[in-house]
Amino acid sequence: MNWNIQNSLEEYRIHEWSDDYFSINEKGSICARPYKDQRSISIEEILKEVKASKISFPLVIRFHDILKHRVHDLFQTFNTLIDKHHYQGKYQGVYPIKVNQLREVVEEIISSDHPIGLEAGSKTEALAVSQFNLNPDSICIFNGFKDKDYIKTTLLNIKAGKKTAIVIEKYQELQSILDVSEEMQIEPILGFRVKLSSKGSGPWAESSGETSKFGLNINEILKLCEDLKSQNKLHLLNLLHFHIGSQVSTITSVQNATKEAMRIYTSLSNMGVPLKYIDIGGGLGVNYEGVLGISQTAINYKTSDYIETIIKIIKETADEAKVSHPNIISESGRYLTALHSCIVTNLVNTNGTKPYDFQSEHQNTVLFKKLLENLKEENYAETFFNAKRIKKDTYQLFLENKAKLNDKAEVDYLFKKLLFKIKELDIKDPTFETFESEILDQTVSQYICNFSIFQSIADSWAIKQVLPIAPITKHHEYPSEVVKIYDITCDSDGKVSQYLSPTGKRKFLRLHKAKPEDDYPIAFFMTGAYQDIMGDMHNLFGRLNEVHVFYDSNEPGNFYLEEIIKGNQSEQILSTMQYNPENMAFNYKRSIDAKVKKGEITPRKGVKYIDTYEEILKGYTYLNIS
Ligand SMILES: *Cc1c(COP(=O)(O)O)cnc(C)c1O
Repeated sequence: MNWNIQNSLEEYRIHEWSDDYFSINEKGSICARPYKDQRSISIEEILKEVKASKISFPLVIRFHDILKHRVHDLFQTFNTLIDKHHYQGKYQGVYPIKVNQLREVVEEIISSDHPIGLEAGSKTEALAVSQFNLNPDSICIFNGFKDKDYIKTTLLNIKAGKKTAIVIEKYQELQSILDVSEEMQIEPILGFRVKLSSKGSGPWAESSGETSKFGLNINEILKLCEDLKSQNKLHLLNLLHFHIGSQVSTITSVQNATKEAMRIYTSLSNMGVPLKYIDIGGGLGVNYEGVLGISQTAINYKTSDYIETIIKIIKETADEAKVSHPNIISESGRYLTALHSCIVTNLVNTNGTKPYDFQSEHQNTVLFKKLLENLKEENYAETFFNAKRIKKDTYQLFLENKAKLNDKAEVDYLFKKLLFKIKELDIKDPTFETFESEILDQTVSQYICNFSIFQSIADSWAIKQVLPIAPITKHHEYPSEVVKIYDITCDSDGKVSQYLSPTGKRKFLRLHKAKPEDDYPIAFFMTGAYQDIMGDMHNLFGRLNEVHVFYDSNEPGNFYLEEIIKGNQSEQILSTMQYNPENMAFNYKRSIDAKVKKGEITPRKGVKYIDTYEEILKGYTYLNIS
């Protein structure tokens, strides 16, 4: 089969999902293009360096330049469209750290030349936000349910010189905010989250609407204004916030929500509430599926359409009400981080789909062989049905002791053989579609990869999010194998069930024929938003090894690894579960010592067992196969 880089780009739809941050170089391996231009970093080269540093798979690679470029892109798009529409307000982006709280990620984002601020959604996140030095023109947004300590943290952030808005999520929060503010002698910017009637779209649609968990309804907002007025504090109320969920799938829902929010904004303004900011929350989606369209997890808009829609509606509604244009705050986390990191791992096993021939003389195997001989395109459906029937019958006979183990093994073998033969017929008959997935399911190769889906791509399991997966190398060669990806957890859910295809989604992935001993790295892309922190400890695999890559044209390969963070050792993970690694080794030693005492193990061997136990305890949690 003729195959070239262009075929591969289409097969894995790299230019579509990656928004041009990734491509394939002339060597046929995937490279990052952190500035969306000719500057590129080969992932294969990164892996060579990583290997030389004795860092093993699985591995998170972070491209810091992509983070920085993404911030630039967002501000640039807003600012260009603000100019285009003669919009009078400013754009003030904030990064919601819950999307990826890793210190290095936050530091990279705020090191941008643009005045990007930070958003916290909990007390602990607020503490994290408060320790960063931010651009003096930026703003911080403190959302989420608040106790007095959270409120104090907000005010401490203001004391440290940062402009900070505290967003009231529940009406009852107002009084504690005013009390703490009085006590600490400092006045915050007050905002409130509005519970809109219009809903979002996409996987988090339910986080919006009148029954959502957060926010004040109109009734409570009016009461809030009255309370503030009666306490001479209305001047503090400057910000209106709404959030209709993450990865919003349709532009219409953005339109409706912004319109409703702006009607509230302008009505309040005209009543004398000194609003200055509209905070449109998160929701700006990324193109995981590489195609703009209608599905739960796909988006149907381009970034600039989304932003232009918002600017136009805000302007139009403000003008109509003769209210000055508000400053626009967005809390775009997924957009900023999703693309900056990927997970690279290796193959542990490729499940043999071709079983052995066990030679049996059983009547069913004789029947089966006839079916195989007579298989033609015209009778494939009938043959398939008969084959399934004989297989089931053999199983029954086996239970009744009328077929032996090798008879069953032989029938299973012939059944697989038949499926492969049907596949080879390459049937064009439209009714074949009804059989296809059943045949496919039983003939795909299982590629077991050294990683945990629950730790590294949780959304693929939890909400069936499709994430781009591709081999790093060999893009000159035809990927001849039809495969499904499995992880190394002992959970039967530990598999990827949906993949990108050249035209949409499908239940398998094309990869090259490869064995575990081959150098065949496989990457999961777009894992930078939420996946790092939503990951869990299923089977105690824990955090991955991680490298932080920076572009530098003076360095060989145009990059350097600024930092290598080691993933979890088994003893670290165990100590989070209340095991004490020192005691563990000691307890193990005690059992060995007892055996030595009884003379069942020689002392020399005993010491060796204990050393081995301790050594493995200090090792990486993932499979050690490279
Ligand atoms: C989660 C969240 C965000 C981030 O949303 P993205 O879709 O990732 O940009 C922003 N604001 C609030 C209030 C959130 O809860």
